[in-house]
Amino acid sequence: MDERTVRLQVAAARQEESGQGIARMSRAALSAIGALEGDVLEITGKSVTVAQAVLAYPEDEGLEVIRLDGLQRVNAEVGSGDHVTVRKGESRPAQRVVFAPAQREMRLQGPPVALKRNFSGRPMVQGDLVATTGQQQVADIPPQLRRMFNAPAYALTQIRLNVVSTTPRGIVHIDENTEVELREVFEEAEARRGDINYDDVGGMGDTIRQLREMVELPLRYPELFTRLGVAPPKGVLLHGPPGTGKTRLAQAVANESEANFFSINGPEIMGSGYGDSEKALREVFDEATKAAPAIIFIDEIDSIAPKRSQVHGEAEKRLVAQLLTLMDGLNSRAHVVVIAATNRPEAIDEALRRPGRFDREIVIGVPDESGRREILAIHTRGMPLGDKVDLKELARTTHGFVGADIAALAREAAIEAVRRIMPQIDLEARTIPPEVLENLSVTREDFIEALKR
Ligand code: ADP
Repeated sequence: MDERTVRLQVAAARQEESGQGIARMSRAALSAIGALEGDVLEITGKSVTVAQAVLAYPEDEGLEVIRLDGLQRVNAEVGSGDHVTVRKGESRPAQRVVFAPAQREMRLQGPPVALKRNFSGRPMVQGDLVATTGQQQVADIPPQLRRMFNAPAYALTQIRLNVVSTTPRGIVHIDENTEVELREVFEEAEARRGDINYDDVGGMGDTIRQLREMVELPLRYPELFTRLGVAPPKGVLLHGPPGTGKTRLAQAVANESEANFFSINGPEIMGSGYGDSEKALREVFDEATKAAPAIIFIDEIDSIAPKRSQVHGEAEKRLVAQLLTLMDGLNSRAHVVVIAATNRPEAIDEALRRPGRFDREIVIGVPDESGRREILAIHTRGMPLGDKVDLKELARTTHGFVGADIAALAREAAIEAVRRIMPQIDLEARTIPPEVLENLSVTREDFIEALKR
């Protein structure tokens, strides 16, 4: 065993490489630990994970960084900017590997042949979260499709799994002799780890950096702020049109800063009876404080905190006042940050935007072409794409689309692909023949059809 190690700073992997189990580092860093491209890397943060070594992007040569994707950062328990220790590892063929889904609302079934092929040769350790990359996973399907199929089908998307156990223990890889078991049950404890992270939010590089500074740093390193004698922000207001990923971003920040996430939907809370809205609001703040570090996300805050000068109802006025009281009552050392979203910042009561309340603002705009390209990459991750599918071209032709539109487009295109193979499916049969699934891919034409809808 080579004992040489290097200390490298963690940077985020590129969107399109997320979930492949690779880590990029410079030639110099690789040779410092006696490793070559393709070797196994043992990466130690607060926990240990493994990856396959790949050479750094040219622009990273000379930098002491290692590019890790969101799952790898979760596995090593580090965030971008943290340091990890890396050394060359050795993987042994596994006799047996047990996986379980790490995402809610996903039931996997069927023999895990595709899984085996997918993960073949990739180093892993027990406890790791891994993502399927290539093709065709047997999985639960969206409701629209379920009606058409009445049988389990393939997910046309990336799936996150937890490596529940391996025999032997330590670093292993799957080969043709490995027995692979796929548990059907989802492990609740893994939900958060397998959930949305920064890799799942596209076209927001700068926004993520800003939000990390405002929210993640204070939550993760409160001592930094104590030491500097400055109060970390309590409230951040995100504004931008619907469907641009504000909710998703807030979830990613919560997960990456290992904070508990509480969510309040403005219009929903307004709908409750006399006095109940305030009570509900108080309860969430209460629970969040107990569960700190925590993030409270208030969606459509304009509906619960409209300008008091413009509302007539007493109930509305009281709710705004309650929210102000709760914000003021939050101790800046409570490690609770409130992130609110709105598409009508001008409609919010001015008092909410004063210092000590929502005193930071981030504008989330409609994505530009390169943003759309990133979002497309996210929503087609793990989809078996036809050769002619050109995400760049799709990004160009979807001017004006927000993230939610792009997610819908990818979904529709997948449904088109399924429609095409429908005639080959015996609807009486419980499952779809493997050869049909093998040939299932989402084509350029499927995207064009989907664009027409
Ligand atoms: P908002 O809160 O701004 O209305 P959401 O975060 O609820 O938007 O986005 C709705 C859905 O649209 C998300 O679940 C996701 O599938 C997709 N989406 C929106 N923006 C993005 C983005 N920037 N990157 C990836 N997916 C996105």
